[in-house]
Amino acid sequence: MPLPLFDQLSIRYKLVVLLGLSLGLGLCVSALVALYSTWVAERQSSLRALHQIAAITSENMRAALAFHDAQSAANILAPLHTNPHIRYALVTNENGQLLGQYRAPATTEAQAQAWHARIEQHPATPEQQQEAMERAYHYVIYPIDFDGKRIGRLALLADNDAMYAKMRQFFMLQGLASVLILASLLLLSWRLQLIFTRPILQLLALMRRIGHSKDYTPVLATLRTDEFGELYRGFNAMLQEIRQRDEQLSRLATTDTLTGLANRGHALDVLQAMVTRAQRKHEPMGVILLDVDHFKQINDRHGHPAGDQVLRDMAHILQANIRTYDLAARFGGEEFLLLCDGADLATTADMAERIRASVASHSFRLASGQVLHVTVSLGLHVGSAVPETAMARIEAADQALYRAKQAGRNRVESA
Ligand code: GH3
Ligand code: MG
Ligand code: MG
Repeated sequence: MPLPLFDQLSIRYKLVVLLGLSLGLGLCVSALVALYSTWVAERQSSLRALHQIAAITSENMRAALAFHDAQSAANILAPLHTNPHIRYALVTNENGQLLGQYRAPATTEAQAQAWHARIEQHPATPEQQQEAMERAYHYVIYPIDFDGKRIGRLALLADNDAMYAKMRQFFMLQGLASVLILASLLLLSWRLQLIFTRPILQLLALMRRIGHSKDYTPVLATLRTDEFGELYRGFNAMLQEIRQRDEQLSRLATTDTLTGLANRGHALDVLQAMVTRAQRKHEPMGVILLDVDHFKQINDRHGHPAGDQVLRDMAHILQANIRTYDLAARFGGEEFLLLCDGADLATTADMAERIRASVASHSFRLASGQVLHVTVSLGLHVGSAVPETAMARIEAADQALYRAKQAGRNRVESA
């Protein structure tokens, strides 16, 4: 069944509504049962009270009926006025003729006639006691015997005002109690819903925060052993997986797969950041471009895998000769880029020469067991005070590299 308004409610209010409704329903049913049983008990007790008075009065009435003494019948009925709820009474003889009647001051003539007619519908000399409960009144009819012979009957009629007054009182008390119970049930529902909604809302808040910040480091702490605990742990595991994948992706995006050095794109990003910082701090920074001499021949003579091996070894030599805050990158093919943060011309030139010498003296061992000797040419550039773009610095280093090649290779030239 579609409930658009209910569906839109927060889970918190959904639970309060459902808990409140079920508890309220239970309360209503028990209140109705209590009201009904009180109603039944009150009816019975009203009739019982009238029976008691009728029993005594009919006992007293026996002589008056036996002697057809209307005066004494009236005297016996007169004390009924002490009970204001007895509104009408009558005594008839064995022929149904009226011997006496009683009318309470509150009873109107019309009421007395209507009630009289109602009682007249019953047999004049009833077999046994009779009782009836109407909406506004109740009555009993008692047969009266003398010496084993039926000599008449007595009818007593009382209003239901006392009963209704009691029911009203009970209803109000019940209503008051119900309101108090309902209020405490709502409070209880609110507390109960927190048990279920707090962990869900906590999870939701974290999910929203992560969605907004894209920061996957937060962790949901929990010692719970129920399904919510499982949900939290599952969520944490998922976050960890995302973090690991992010790291893996960024590693893949910034690393050259053959040598493990930074790739061209990452190197250009780092260069841009270094140039900006160097200019802000008015510090020098060195850029070295390195190219393997006659690399094509290595490939041609020893095969592509041998060339790859040389490139990997070259990467190790570069890593071993730079400082921790410098960056070595594969710029493309057999060309490498070195970014020397805060390095002046002397430091950069020293580093370039150290690398050239290391490569020249290195024995490149191939998988075949063959040993190669390889040289490299390097062109360097150190940024001046004049603001230079990152690309301008690389181009300057490239021109220096070109000169190194032109000058016979295995050497360092500076721009
Ligand atoms: P020069 O001294 O003038 O630099 O001569 P060179 O032979 O090194 O220069 P050239 O640019 O002619 O040759 C570069 C070669 O590098 C060509 C290309 O096949 C090879 N090369 C580029 N990338 C790779 C790679 O990833 N692995 C291998 N094995 N070879 C590569
Ligand atoms: Mg080249
Ligand atoms: Mg080359």
